[in-house]
Amino acid sequence: MFEPPHSIRNWPFIILLALLYFIAAKLGLMLAGIHPSATAVWPPSGIALAALLLFGYRLWPGIFVGAFLANITTAGTAATSLGIATGNSLEALVGAYLVNRFCNGVQAFDRAQDVFKFTFLAAVVSTAVSATLGITSLALGGYAGWSDYGAVWLTWWIGDAAGVLIIAPLLILWSRNPRIRWDRWKILEALLLLFYLYVADRILSGGWSPIGRLPFLYLPILVWAAFRLGQRETATVALLIAGSAIWRTLQGVGPFVQGTENESFLLIGAYMSTVTVTAMALAAGVSERRRVEEQLRRHAAELEFFSYALAHDLRSPIVSIEGLGQIVMTDYAERLDPAAQGHLRRIIGHAEQMDALIKDLLAYSKLSRADLRPQRMSLKSALSQVLGQLAGQISQSRSQIYVEEPLPEVLADPVVLSQIISNLLTNAIKFVEPGVSPKVRVWAEKNKQGVRLWVHDNGIGIAPEHKERIFQIFERLYGDDNYPGTGIGLAIVDKGVERLGGRSGVESEPGKGSRFWIELPIEPAIGGLARKA
Ligand code: ADP
Repeated sequence: MFEPPHSIRNWPFIILLALLYFIAAKLGLMLAGIHPSATAVWPPSGIALAALLLFGYRLWPGIFVGAFLANITTAGTAATSLGIATGNSLEALVGAYLVNRFCNGVQAFDRAQDVFKFTFLAAVVSTAVSATLGITSLALGGYAGWSDYGAVWLTWWIGDAAGVLIIAPLLILWSRNPRIRWDRWKILEALLLLFYLYVADRILSGGWSPIGRLPFLYLPILVWAAFRLGQRETATVALLIAGSAIWRTLQGVGPFVQGTENESFLLIGAYMSTVTVTAMALAAGVSERRRVEEQLRRHAAELEFFSYALAHDLRSPIVSIEGLGQIVMTDYAERLDPAAQGHLRRIIGHAEQMDALIKDLLAYSKLSRADLRPQRMSLKSALSQVLGQLAGQISQSRSQIYVEEPLPEVLADPVVLSQIISNLLTNAIKFVEPGVSPKVRVWAEKNKQGVRLWVHDNGIGIAPEHKERIFQIFERLYGDDNYPGTGIGLAIVDKGVERLGGRSGVESEPGKGSRFWIELPIEPAIGGLARKA
């Protein structure tokens, strides 16, 4: 809780609070209908609670003095005013204690569940203290009939609850975060909201339409403020609505006007309390969700960066192990017996495997984060570039690659497209029965979605039940001894195509080769395609 520095004495704060309380009380009492001391809209209770929550319990004498002066100059004696002032101070002290103890003090409006607890403890429970002490004092002093006790109590209680629910959140939220950082659109939105409030007020006070008989026109602005602007703004809108409702009722117009003024204000107090709590809980829920989303985004970015940095740093020692192993193998081979040579070869093999894994992981993680700029490009040139890169593998495996023309243009990022094609071709060459020379046919066709590129091999094929799974990271169908690999290739294909705004898939049967396909757009999608995944 915020405490004023010790060098500042309390009394200036106490005097200020007493003054504020006195003015607000006098304004509130102007609305008193059922009894000169009881009103169904009582802003001082909100001021008192906010002051104790923001600046500490020690300001309570300000409430006591303010309430005493306001009451002794209204009705009753010194004794009844003392009783009422005691009730008002106790209400704020009990309310502040319960809010600090059970609903996070001044942070009570940050979470929807705390808003409900605040409502119950501060607006329902603690206000009963003031209502009971106040009216009992008046009745004991002979200033109120015992027969009216119930009716006056209700007015007093609702008045204090409305004050707590409308004024306290407003003061607390604004004093915790007074800065306004709105751009032009937010300002425009706020102005539109005020305009709506003006129109709603005109309709509700005009009395010319049945729509004006019920105050439901106020609800959209509160929901709007809760969803779009924030908690402080929602509390402010609630105050504006309460102000306009009271103002119109005093003029004798609007949906709250009832048989007596007290009934009218009782209705305003009850209505405003209910809708304010609902809107504040909604605003808290919305801001809670925003906070969680922001936190998730931060964590995801941190995690991605961490894994990228880790993979990056892991590469250099592995590359050293591989390089040093090669040196020992070539320069000291005659001094090593066959067993040692075998072990060394395995060390180098493992290091190479690890290096490949890290390289693939880096490529995959980069693909998720990269800011892609898709451009119109020819599939033909992308394909011949990849075939150039794979020339060594192709001749070593005695593969035959047939490329059928025409290969149309697509919308893609050159680097990502090369990665995708390279992984598909490498797999097509790799996954063949031992001794079989790979034959791969590549062609493309246009369809409604864009261009579909096919890579058809004469390899071992894939069982239907594995067709989806193999596109996930680290999913492999065979051990390293038969077909070495990292299990990241098809994940790169899938993620890359997705980021280019396309799709990928496979048609295959075991023993009958596989036909992998990717589909790429030719035109930019509406809303852009290469959005970050
Ligand atoms: P890797 O090739 O490193 O094992 P991939 O993600 O590229 O990893 O492929 C995942 C798995 O999908 C492979 O391990 C293999 O079981 C299967 N697969 C991929 N391409 C083919 C293909 N052309 N023919 C048969 N199986 C394939």
